Order: sequence, then C-alpha cells, then structure tokens
Amino acid sequence: MENKTKGHLLEENLSYKTVNAWEKVSEEEKEKAFQFCEGYKSFLNRAKTEREFAREVEDLARKNGFISVEEVMRDNTRLTPGMKLYRLVKKKAVLLAVVGKKPVTEGLNIIGAHIDAPRIDLKPNPLYEDTGLVMLKTHYYGGIKKYQWVTIPLALHGVFTKPGGEVINISIGEGDEDPRFTITDLLPHLAQDQMQKKMSEGITGEGLNLLFGHMPYNDEKVSEKVRLNILKLLNDRYGITEEDFISSELEIVPAFKAVDIGFDRSMVGAYGQDDRACAYGAVMALMEAEGVERTSVCVLTDKEEIGSVGNTGAQSTLFENFAAFLCRHITGSSDNSLFRCCLENSRMLSADVNPGVDPNFEGVQDKRNASFMGKGIVLQKYTGSRGKVGGSDANAEYLGYLRKLFNDNGIIWQSAELGKVDQGGGGTIAQYVANLGAEVLDVGVPVLSMHSPFEITSKIDLYMNYKANRVFYMSV
Ligand code: MN
Ligand code: MN
Repeated sequence: MENKTKGHLLEENLSYKTVNAWEKVSEEEKEKAFQFCEGYKSFLNRAKTEREFAREVEDLARKNGFISVEEVMRDNTRLTPGMKLYRLVKKKAVLLAVVGKKPVTEGLNIIGAHIDAPRIDLKPNPLYEDTGLVMLKTHYYGGIKKYQWVTIPLALHGVFTKPGGEVINISIGEGDEDPRFTITDLLPHLAQDQMQKKMSEGITGEGLNLLFGHMPYNDEKVSEKVRLNILKLLNDRYGITEEDFISSELEIVPAFKAVDIGFDRSMVGAYGQDDRACAYGAVMALMEAEGVERTSVCVLTDKEEIGSVGNTGAQSTLFENFAAFLCRHITGSSDNSLFRCCLENSRMLSADVNPGVDPNFEGVQDKRNASFMGKGIVLQKYTGSRGKVGGSDANAEYLGYLRKLFNDNGIIWQSAELGKVDQGGGGTIAQYVANLGAEVLDVGVPVLSMHSPFEITSKIDLYMNYKANRVFYMSV
C-alpha cells in the first residue's frame, strides 16, 4: 500500500478494469458455482430441443408452486403478491411470473432468453434408399457451419402427429443402449476435389443426409427392401406410416452429453448452450424469487435462431398477451392504458450469449470491447451488424442503472460488443421487447465455439449470470 505512487492511485481510481471472477470469489462461492453447474448439465441433458426445455421448465415450475394461466382463468383468480404462474405456448415457449408487491403499472422485471438452438431438421418427406442404405433428407435450422455436423454421433428428437391428433414423442440416441445416427464425410484419400473447395461448400446443405439403416426386408419382390424394413420397424415401434413424417417435427441434435471441460473442470462443454445457458440461469433465479417488489417475469422463446419468427418466437404477441393477462388479473381492470403504462415502465435483461475471445481466433474481436471467459457476465449495449443495424442500442441511463445494481451486489461483469466492426454480427430478442417501450439490455455469458455441436462456457460466468439474474429480479 505504502509503495503506491500518486500515479498508481490515480490510475486505480480513473481506469476501467475487468477482473477475473475466479480470483474475486471465495472458495465457498467457487464450490457453489460447481454445484450450480451440476444441475445445469443434467438439465441440458434432459432438454435438447425447445419442446423438451419447455416441458422441463413446466415440471420445475409446478414443483415450485407455479400454476398455469389456464387454471387462473378457470377459477377467475385475482392475482396477489407472491403468486406464481406460467403459460406454456404451443409446447415450445414458456412465460413465467411471480407477482410483486408494487403496483404492476410501475413495470415488470423481465428476463428473456431463447430455448431453441441451431440444429438439423428432417425434411417433410425425408426417407429414401440408395446403394442399400436408408438415408433421411434434412434441412438445417439456424446458423451452422455444416462441416461441424458430419462424423459425430447424432440423436433424433421430436414429435409425430398422427391424423387423429395423437402426438408421439420421439427421443432416440440418448440412452446408453440407444442406437445413434450420423452424417458421413469423405475419406481424405479421395477428397482431392473437396479439399480445394471453400469451407462453406465442402459439405453442402443437400449433402447433410442422415444415415438411418441398412438391413433389407426379406422379400425378393420388393424393390427397396431396406427402406421397407425401416418403415416396418417404425410402424412396429411407433405405429406410424411414411405419411406421418409430413406432420412431424424431428430435430437432429448431437448425441453427446454435457461434460466438464479442462483438467481443472472449470468449464462446461455441451450442445445448445446458446441460449440455454441464459435460459437456465433465468429460470433458476425466478424459482427462488421470493417476496419480489416488482412483478418478475421470465420469457423463454423459440425460433430466435431463424429470426424470432412464428407464433412461438419473440416477434409474436406471446409476451404482450402474457403481460396483458398479468395486468388484467392483478389490477382487476382491462383498461389498456394501465397495460401500456406497465410495458413502458418495465425493465428487461435480454439474456443471450456473447462470443468470448478465443486464443485460436483472436483477429475477429476488438479486445478492448470483447468478452473473456471467466470475467463475469457480459453487458452488451448493442448487437446488430454493419453499423448496429438490427440491434436495439440500450439507453445509457439504463446501463448506468444496471451497472450500479450489479456493482452494489458483487456481480462481476464485463462490457463487450459482438465482434469487430463489419466483421459480421447478429441479433437477439432485445429489440422486440424494446419496441413495447421497456428498457432492455443484452446480458449473458461468453461462449466459445458458439453454434457448434459442442459449445464451451465458464462455470464461474454461468454462476455469476444466475446471481445477476437473482439480483435483477429482487431489484426495486
Ligand atoms: Mn442466442
Ligand atoms: Mn445463436
């Protein structure tokens, strides 16, 4: 202390510095971070699709005393402080709320995240036989680097809807005894031409065909015996015919489980952490939100990876409808101006991941404005691309408010944007809630290998994000 010069002290007082969260937290906190991530990994293993995530959240919510919007309507319940409710939208999006003590017109504390992830979907008519192999045609979903999805074990998740409306849930490739699927790649010996191509063209979209079977049905008269055998097996197991694929939603996802990464076990490697890292943190924080002052809401949307479209995406009225419902059942009035007032006074964390600096690919980031693994949650004033287009640039006043909130509560954070200017870019669901008048900031955790089948996060960032979410829900 006594050795510090005047310059040192000035520098300390005037400069903005980030800190390594591992170095700032106690041993007890580190232990809690590791514990938190055990729950996280097991949740990820049970929830590899938006439908599965929504179902798991509903289960958890019910165990924690949340009741459905349908139950509230049926009993015409007036919502009072402390009550907990949720709405499942088309089984793919979920909204949850804990009613606060303050008038709802003073606004909501909202955390929004998306629960879909990049993947490979089956085409409506996928099944064909070629050279004695049965393959499934696919159409990828979201921004993937196609070459990352070949020669890895894959699982098939989703639903078939039969003509009578019966829905059959499918999950093949998760149990130890389950078969796996895969997409093949060319051996290097014969890849002369392929290796000269651009990375974006070495594996094509139409080339992402899933290897599904290869045993023939025993009948000489049949021309496509392997295909028939697979159809028979599907029919035996699920009672479906080929036409049932037309009314199905089947998603191909990596078959591997979430695991610890690093000799020190400091990181989590798993599929779908964009954005289930943030979605999980928000849900866990809300489950523990007791005695909140402001009504707290968690919004988990689908379809973010393809533009937040559709009636389960953030561009739909799903959040507005839920907020209107809350206002009506809390105030007892359908006065639209109360509802609009509530929206304008609301604050939101748009919880989504940020690309952490990767030592293998440093050139794409401005390191003064990039996130680093282990340096806490990322505050991202804006996203977008080519001049912030498509980002909902947060207001300085709101950033100031959150900075103080997090500083006062020991939350370690860092500030970042999404890569170098003009390097690329992206968006989140922030803008759609900002359109309603709420203050919104993008907040999340750094991720390495984002959108790959195996994404990496830091345990301390995941834990810090969950703590930040708790502090936010409790804020007045
Ligand atoms: Mn995301
Ligand atoms: Mn994404």
